[in-house]
Amino acid sequence: MYKVIAKKCSTYDIPKLKKIIDTIFTDTEFYPTLKSLTTVLLKPNLLGAYPPDRAITTHPNLVAAVIEILQDHKIKISLMDNPGGTVTAMRAYQLSGFESLAKLYGITLINPFKNGIYTYKKNTKYSVSKAFIDAEAIINLAKLKTHMYTLFTGAIKNFYGIIPGLAKSNLHRLAPNPTKFAEFVVDIYEIIKDKVAFNLIDGIIGMDGDGPSTGDVKKFDIVLGSKNAIALDFFASRLMGYNPEKIPTTRIAAAREGLDFHDFHFTGDFKDDYILPHCNIQASKRKSRILNLLSVPLKGFVKRFFWTIPYFDPQKCVQCKACVKFCPGKALTLEEKDLAPKIDPQKCILCMCCIEICPEHAVSLKKSFLGKMLIQEHDPSKA
Ligand code: SF4
Ligand code: SF4
Repeated sequence: MYKVIAKKCSTYDIPKLKKIIDTIFTDTEFYPTLKSLTTVLLKPNLLGAYPPDRAITTHPNLVAAVIEILQDHKIKISLMDNPGGTVTAMRAYQLSGFESLAKLYGITLINPFKNGIYTYKKNTKYSVSKAFIDAEAIINLAKLKTHMYTLFTGAIKNFYGIIPGLAKSNLHRLAPNPTKFAEFVVDIYEIIKDKVAFNLIDGIIGMDGDGPSTGDVKKFDIVLGSKNAIALDFFASRLMGYNPEKIPTTRIAAAREGLDFHDFHFTGDFKDDYILPHCNIQASKRKSRILNLLSVPLKGFVKRFFWTIPYFDPQKCVQCKACVKFCPGKALTLEEKDLAPKIDPQKCILCMCCIEICPEHAVSLKKSFLGKMLIQEHDPSKA
């Protein structure tokens, strides 16, 4: 039986959060494990250099509450993540509130550039930041968000951050569609899963619509926790209104471990069938569906009418070139005279990374008229 506790929480007040997380740790019987630990590595969601109120990264006050509990047990703490794109972790720590948190509590922030790399071979070759492999135990601190490529980003997807920034680009290039990409994400989770002592999801403010970085900030007022990342994602995605068995990372991870969804147990402040009100998951479902459809080789004349492609808004673009440097398909160019990157549609693999990493929200997905019709007709909520 894998227990998931969901608690109502409408504030980032640290003492209140500490009480809630203490209840989650108690009710999931995590304390015996925690008391046996001497060091813990915290793994927040640090997608990029964004302030906490953008709901893209794990809120530092939730992390502070966890730190206080660990320090009450005399546990030595470090924190690390690899942001996406070309932004440095140190810059992301600074803007997302982790630098001041580290100073306040005396914890170690690990700089990925000074950390080594281990290489693993599974379905492909993975470079993984050494700190995660060397850790005695990891506490996973994820964020509740939709994801227009993988539908949902929760506990399992958060481990994609153990891959250094630009190495992520290579994995995207090797994944022809969201389902294959989810297999890579589960491979990565499997490399690290024996180290993961606990998983929490920060859903006090989260994101719906075009997540994980360009969606709408929503006050979900919820914190969830479990010792098992798959069970946690199962219920977190269900709370958002998804059919959890259709979330690729959950489905693939559970199948590989031979887990039965009936062995997952949901408890806490919400009824079993509770769905977060006004949570818009349709945008991410439609986009993920069309990206899966377009990964099937289409005949030329079909492709001419049913296309979808990133659009770079010259009014918003600040020519930082982050998307150009990261683009897994090498589909982007930006010359001095240009106001925004130019895209080569033949090279674009529709990985959505440019949308995810653009700090100015200058990239969106543009669809042909027939492409829009196709997406509407194949609304995966009916799947
Ligand atoms: S589209 Fe965004 S990431 Fe790309 S160059 Fe412009 S501002 Fe930078
Ligand atoms: S242009 Fe954007 S969507 Fe296309 S391959 Fe490059 S990063 Fe991915």
